[in-house]
Amino acid sequence: MRAWTGPEIPTIDPAARDEMPTLRLHDTRSGSLVDSAPEGTARLYVCGITPYDATHLGHAATYLTFDLLQRQWLARGLDVVYTQNVTDVDDPLLERAEATGEDWQALAERETELFRTDMTALRMRAPQHYVGAVESIDLVTDLVARLGESVYRVDDDLYFDVHADAAFGSVSNLDEEAMRAVFGERGGDPDRAGKRDPLDCLVWQAPRPGEPSWESPLGPGRPGWHIECAAIALQHLGTDFDVQGGGSDLAFPHHEMSASEARVATGEEFARAFVHAGMVGLDGEKMSKSKGNLVLVSALREAGTDPMAVRLALLAHHYRSDWEWFDTDLTQAKDRLRRWRTAVERPTGAPAGALVADLAAALSDDLDAPRALEAVDAWTALDGTDAEASQEVRAAVDALLGVAL
Ligand code: ZN
Repeated sequence: MRAWTGPEIPTIDPAARDEMPTLRLHDTRSGSLVDSAPEGTARLYVCGITPYDATHLGHAATYLTFDLLQRQWLARGLDVVYTQNVTDVDDPLLERAEATGEDWQALAERETELFRTDMTALRMRAPQHYVGAVESIDLVTDLVARLGESVYRVDDDLYFDVHADAAFGSVSNLDEEAMRAVFGERGGDPDRAGKRDPLDCLVWQAPRPGEPSWESPLGPGRPGWHIECAAIALQHLGTDFDVQGGGSDLAFPHHEMSASEARVATGEEFARAFVHAGMVGLDGEKMSKSKGNLVLVSALREAGTDPMAVRLALLAHHYRSDWEWFDTDLTQAKDRLRRWRTAVERPTGAPAGALVADLAAALSDDLDAPRALEAVDAWTALDGTDAEASQEVRAAVDALLGVAL
């Protein structure tokens, strides 16, 4: 994928850094808050899109979560290496291309570009490694080879034996019965004959008529989804990186399988913490392409909505909560943005120091953005004589919340 340039992120005064509390994040694996205090460099992997349709607010809320996380690390003076994949060959993409008669690569390219444009408009930091499945075929086949005897053949497809990994199940904390209940709904094939265990997952799929495939030492085929992310993450971040992120619907099977495959191949842990964002609903159901109940970022932009209002609307909900989008979310965010912008236009204001400390405290506590927004609200209601205040608040709100005033 071509390099992706995101927004410039202001730096925080190093003096303020020393005052920042330790960053704590909710880790799905341990089921508790854990410290995130990388030394020097923080390494983040976030699962990317399958580019067959435009980005909806549920996606945006997930990427925003990990944008906030990076801003916390950056504010502490760390380097942040961020890797994101794009699943540019997979069933939903091929099915959509088939249904509309469009070339699948043209569809993937167009939707990938739209995604990047949406993300940049929302002031998301760009990944340093933005990597497609198609350009990672060799990485995937190498990793499958490293899985050795934990991989077996069903017809010409290759499967990973999940019981080759003693720690299988530890990421999502689900028992086998609960795993089986969701595996089929989330891309798995529990009923396929010939598998050692219903939960075993596809790592290399032999060619189907009319579908693209690549020659490889494993035979012709294309990558399974979980191994794609394991291979890309290991290549660009190594083992035991700081955070594996995504929506809560990825905890199982996707993150469970990727981590298992990586553990078996390397003998080391895949990631230190697994952080999951909640689901955004509309009309009483989770926002999803299959249900067709989407609010698209690009549609809001085309309607002239300020992307900073969209960002504020998302920030008003804690990342771990499941919540439902209403038009009033946007109305309230527009009002808030107007109030904040009016406040920073004042020639003088209350000193920014206390607000910066409040922002750092809220966001260090498992990225509590709603509390951070309330802290800015409180500052805007104060009067003061500090002529630097507005500029300092602008910089802090951009650095920590990604909202440009
Ligand atoms: Zn992934």
